[in-house]
Amino acid sequence: ALKGKVALVTGSTSGIGLGIARALAAQGADIMLNGFGDAGEIEALRAGLAAEFSVRVLYDGADLSKPDQVAAIVQKTQSELGSLDVLVNNAGIQFVAPVDEFPEAKWDAILAINLSAVFYGMKYAIPGMKAKGWGRIINIASAHGLVASPNKVAYVAAKHGVVGATKVAAIELANDGITVNAICPGWVLTPLVQKQLEDRAKAAGTDVETEKKKMISETQPMHKFSSPEEIGALAVFLCSDGAQTITGTPLSIDGGWVAH
Ligand code: NAD
Repeated sequence: ALKGKVALVTGSTSGIGLGIARALAAQGADIMLNGFGDAGEIEALRAGLAAEFSVRVLYDGADLSKPDQVAAIVQKTQSELGSLDVLVNNAGIQFVAPVDEFPEAKWDAILAINLSAVFYGMKYAIPGMKAKGWGRIINIASAHGLVASPNKVAYVAAKHGVVGATKVAAIELANDGITVNAICPGWVLTPLVQKQLEDRAKAAGTDVETEKKKMISETQPMHKFSSPEEIGALAVFLCSDGAQTITGTPLSIDGGWVAH
């Protein structure tokens, strides 16, 4: 259903971004991958996706905390894959500490990657989408874009900012054939969460399995992790004709987290 469309998925070498890239590729979209990691593993991933789904897949290692590199990857997607029709702003990082102990450098880094990169990605991708009269922008926010948890001041502030920026872009583009939405996952078992589980187990003197159960029951009525595949399926739906009037919305996929 996305044959002939080109998607840039930031932070797609791992976790949710990879799940979304796979889901879009399975629909026939050509993909620009991005993110950090081992060069050999990334090349295997790139070539594997291209072969499995018979689509063009390129990789660019732009550091999304740098606005000029966001501009460059948008430009490269358009020049090497022909256009940029679906922008998925997914790259993100986490750091956990109370406000009064939160390191300034971590605040700056989280705001740069989790929030400013979303702004720059939209800013640079929108003109091409407007010219074609079609576009889909999907910003990966979080349940933490809608509600707070302790010790995550930068992350929660950035993700609330993503939801706000999503709404502004959506209303500006409402009659340009471009929808802009935010996906707000609850817990998804990715390397980002695995690290939090390991830190919690260390601090509590327990193990990762114990902390998994505690972590999820603290916030989610449904004691079940969402999967990168499920986030990918929601992204595919947002790209479909059935979703053409869904815009400016934070879509929760969180086992009931923000409902209670
Ligand atoms: P992850 O750590 O598995 O993946 C993050 C990706 O971003 C990786 O590909 C990494 O290389 C890339 N990345 C990090 N810094 C980058 C930078 N400066 N430039 C370019 N790429 C960079 O994490 P994940 O859990 O898959 O998270 C993906 C997104 O989903 C994030 O925005 C995160 O906040 C959000 N999210 C995750 C969860 C969860 O439970 N895992 C829940 C809600 C929202």
